[in-house]
Amino acid sequence: MDLALLERTLSERGEPAYRARQVWEWVSRGAPSYDEMTTLPKSLRSVLGEHVPFSTLELVTERESRDGTVKTLFRTHDGHPVEAVLMRYRDGRRSVCLSSQSGCPLTCTFCATGAMRFGRNLTASEILDQALHFRRLESVNHVVYMGMGEPFLNVDEVLASARHLPEIGVTPRRTTISTVGWLPGLRRFVDEVDSPIRLALSLHSADPALRSELMPVNDRYPLVDVVAECLRYVELRRRKVFVEYVMLAGVNDSPMHARALAALLDPKAFKVNLIPYNPTGVFEGSARGAIEAFKAVLDRARIPATVRLTRGRDIEAACGQLAASPRQSSEKRDPVSSTA
Ligand code: SAH
Repeated sequence: MDLALLERTLSERGEPAYRARQVWEWVSRGAPSYDEMTTLPKSLRSVLGEHVPFSTLELVTERESRDGTVKTLFRTHDGHPVEAVLMRYRDGRRSVCLSSQSGCPLTCTFCATGAMRFGRNLTASEILDQALHFRRLESVNHVVYMGMGEPFLNVDEVLASARHLPEIGVTPRRTTISTVGWLPGLRRFVDEVDSPIRLALSLHSADPALRSELMPVNDRYPLVDVVAECLRYVELRRRKVFVEYVMLAGVNDSPMHARALAALLDPKAFKVNLIPYNPTGVFEGSARGAIEAFKAVLDRARIPATVRLTRGRDIEAACGQLAASPRQSSEKRDPVSSTA
């Protein structure tokens, strides 16, 4: 819901200031429509229904994976596709993966989003409305900004949306923003944010030449500078940074690559998350044995490391697979194939 439009609409009608708060309270707790807002006069509910769309996003399609993961494709009012994912875990964790942009202007070679056309930055309301959609299905307790787009290319709207997450039920400690290392936005996040929102860095190779090949953004913002900025975050917030590392067979997954990663990272500042590659038609994923051997090198170097659980691969909802396919929207791009 566009909260600025809500406030404007209410004040133009001479409504008291608490009305906007009342509406937001209902919305943030998962109310499905204005009709349920029984603390508002009926006439006001119908005025709002006419002038303030309940969501800034229109639902296009929704699919549920065998593992319970739900992927939803939305469309903005000006026609841009946006995907978001709800991950359900057995321990009760309900994690929502939010998109910060429609498409992505960066062109990481292993990521499907980079191959679709870049649309635009999303507004804070459009980001929040993804989370609210799932909040209407059930309670949620974690948020990751790991959907389409680079959050730090859209830092103002991303942070504005994050400020509202506690009202939906997600604390800053359970909120994670993931970046390729887009330095201007990362610097602002480190300097300006005073809540304990977590930081994740998509690293994928400690070797500058290989990293540039996989992620062209590395030419613009070299890894040493990005790692230095992460250390400033650790210093100021007293929390470790998560490192994301996609395991690509024969590309970045040898013990030599693991040693280079271990040499780059201070074990007191970083935790590594090894991500099995989800097929996007370009690379081969590392074999389980290669992932274990890689992890063993990190273990010996005392770098905390885990292997990420893959979710929603059967519905192209897993990391790196978000890209509105032609079947689902009018955007032009190659379909993402899944071998899972
Ligand atoms: N642009 C930000 C936010 C997206 S996060 C970032 O890159 O950090 C999406 C995560 O999924 C990133 O860590 C990304 O590197 C990873 N990813 C991308 N493509 C993938 C794939 N095909 N398989 C597994 N993980 C992938």
